[in-house]
Amino acid sequence: MSTVRGHSLSTSHYIDGKWIKGESYFDVFSPINGEHLSEIAAGSATNVDTAISSAENAFPAWASLGAEGRLPYLQRFASEIGKRKDALCEVESADAGILLSRLRHGIIPRSMLNITWFAEAALELQNKIIETPQAKHHVRYDPAGVCAIINPWNAPLMLTTWKLGPALASGNTCIIKPPEWAPLSSALLLEAAHAAELPPGVLNMVHGSGSPTGALLTSDSRLARISFTGSISTAKDIGKAAAENLVPCSLELGGKSPFIVLEDADVEQAAKTGALMYRNATQVCLAGTRFLVHENVYHDFIEKMKSYVSALVIGDPQLEETEVGPLIHPRQLERVKGYVDRAIGKGAKILWGGESHDAGDLYYTPTMLSNVKQDDEIVQEEVFGPVLVIQKFKSDTEAISLANGTKYGLGGVCFGEQLHAQQIANQVHTGFIWVNSFGIRDLAAPFGGCKSSGIGREGGDWSFDFFCDVKDVVIPKKPFVPSFAQR
Ligand code: NAD
Repeated sequence: MSTVRGHSLSTSHYIDGKWIKGESYFDVFSPINGEHLSEIAAGSATNVDTAISSAENAFPAWASLGAEGRLPYLQRFASEIGKRKDALCEVESADAGILLSRLRHGIIPRSMLNITWFAEAALELQNKIIETPQAKHHVRYDPAGVCAIINPWNAPLMLTTWKLGPALASGNTCIIKPPEWAPLSSALLLEAAHAAELPPGVLNMVHGSGSPTGALLTSDSRLARISFTGSISTAKDIGKAAAENLVPCSLELGGKSPFIVLEDADVEQAAKTGALMYRNATQVCLAGTRFLVHENVYHDFIEKMKSYVSALVIGDPQLEETEVGPLIHPRQLERVKGYVDRAIGKGAKILWGGESHDAGDLYYTPTMLSNVKQDDEIVQEEVFGPVLVIQKFKSDTEAISLANGTKYGLGGVCFGEQLHAQQIANQVHTGFIWVNSFGIRDLAAPFGGCKSSGIGREGGDWSFDFFCDVKDVVIPKKPFVPSFAQR
């Protein structure tokens, strides 16, 4: 056990309903001030093997409970998450550097809903019937089996529950491998599952780094599904491992999403929304990070956005007034600085920011780079830090071409007269795009990326399609006459 911000949590794995000590441990530090927060077990081959066996053993009984039988377990799980709200907020903020206010008002309620919403939605899965003159097709959504769930450090609680909700509700058993840079809220989440008395083996957790622990998990042939959110390079490794065993993967990856400001946009509103892109120090996959602004409103937009950005409060994410917190890790800070240095070397100009911030070692000022070309690294690659780029365009055709001109296709934002903006949004090749808004999400709506931003969609029925094996049980309406002439 360890104590983090006054809350005690287990440093062990959680397998088959029991806390299992690690064979070795690694250290976890806070991005806020570098403080040593805890040590956490590092998963071995034996731990991964036992977790998968335990999930396999638990699967038949959990699957056969049906959605109605699983509902009370999952409602209790959500309620136990709610009971741990203070601990989850304070621990995840210390561990991942996420704003405490956002955790309290956004992430915790959403995490609870991620569990209950899918638990209730799963009840509807049992009722799909297709009637034809010859037969009744009872379409079943059967749980696939044992699922591996792997997430990054930028939103551990939200992303883990977003995957666990549909996976567990549809009758699968799961193994999570929490992100090694921010594993602590997962320990509290599993404590909530334990208190909710989920049957042993239904939900397991093996801590550890991507390699070896994550790789051991995703290369196991007993898995039925792998649900992954993270970087493109890890997705390729997971995809190769999964291909060996023909295990279907859902891959939610990075983005370099366009934020388009048309000539007829409400520039004030666009600029105010633009400043929101620095939330979580832009360690947010869906943030608009490439500003494409019509030349006639370019200077006005820059002046307005600059005034909003200069008012941002940067500092300790645990303070109520803070709006931008730290980067997660010294390696992430080096990565961000490297992108900025190379961009400047190629001729980029700093409109604002471009330096470390004195709030602490891992704080970087919200930055905007102009004078960039479409094929520059800084335009093409995801920085995953508070460094945005801005480009000018003259026509709608040019805006669309620039918007679509990277390998990514996750999201986008488009400000302009409503119909005009919608027409442009329709032509941007991404999994989602917000018109005159940002960040509106719904659990029933699809979420995911095109091109290198991912494979598959999460949310609503799309999550169930992934976590279930769809089966057509065909019952003939008339006595069946066997015939070789039949289609
Ligand atoms: P990452 O790919 O390095 O790590 C993600 C997770 O994968 C971690 O838990 C890690 O331990 C694990 N992992 C690493 N190697 C592995 C392997 N070989 N086998 C199995 N697991 C392995 O990503 P990151 O740096 O933690 O996260 C940042 C990335 O995540 C960014 O690209 C960001 O855009 C993306 N992201 C995408 C979404 C989305 O919904 N599309 C949401 C959040 C973050």
